[in-house]
Amino acid sequence: MFDYHAPADLLRDRIILITGANRGIGAGLAKGCATLGARVILQGRDAAALDRVRDDILASGGPAAATLVLDLEQAEATTYATVAQRLQAEFGRLDGLVHNAGLLGPRVPLESTSPAALAQVMQVNVHAGFALTQALLPLLRASADASVVFTSSSVGRKGRAGWGAYSVSKFATEGLMQVWAEELADAGIRVNSVNPGGTRTAMRAAAYPAEDPARVPAPEAILPVYLYLLGSASRGTTGQALNAQ
Ligand code: NDP
Repeated sequence: MFDYHAPADLLRDRIILITGANRGIGAGLAKGCATLGARVILQGRDAAALDRVRDDILASGGPAAATLVLDLEQAEATTYATVAQRLQAEFGRLDGLVHNAGLLGPRVPLESTSPAALAQVMQVNVHAGFALTQALLPLLRASADASVVFTSSSVGRKGRAGWGAYSVSKFATEGLMQVWAEELADAGIRVNSVNPGGTRTAMRAAAYPAEDPARVPAPEAILPVYLYLLGSASRGTTGQALNAQ
């Protein structure tokens, strides 16, 4: 596991948007950030599930979280502009942006991958991360210590047969991270990627149906690298591809 022990007030008063925060790694990360003092903005397309995460955070004494219902597959430029306007009015700045939402897509060889399936996976895993970052740049620039985290995968660092569109999309995610990192360095905005490694979620179960979930770490166990990147200890670290495990 990435070796970092977060102090109890690491994220106090930081405003952090996490996509795909209604379940899986995103929900675990949102709760972990709130425990350390962050005001989290929970993005997802399932309003009821987002409300449950928000209620869990409140029940455990965390700062009030906001929810942002948004389908990343359907979102257009105007949608992102509206999101940016709302967050500008409500928060005025953004200290953390974690692109966590992701789609596995069909686990078939490229030969059998339809253009539509490739486009769908690229839309959610790549285009949304590009468009959301672009729209939220003014809010990130308004932060004294902004951090953007993209979510990769081991198949985003080395291609693997049968992982088709997903693998391609995660390579593109790494490219997006590297270019943003160079372009935003002067603004003091750090941009990095995390490969969570095998983590006990619905996506993992879909990719490895024969695996015993009890043998895979829960989302709560893989948080240290994310917390490191979202807190001030990682100031100056940018353009890096890190591993949670
Ligand atoms: P889950 O399948 O458990 O959760 C995926 C999240 O992405 C859900 O919140 C889901 O929302 C959201 N999402 C998917 N499509 C959309 C969409 N169109 N609009 C908005 N939100 C959407 O996955 P994990 O928690 O396992 O994965 C989180 C990230 O980690 C992903 O980027 C994944 O690729 C990556 N990863 C995970 C690994 C693992 O072992 N779990 C390993 C390596 C990488 P909804 O509930 O509405 O579907």
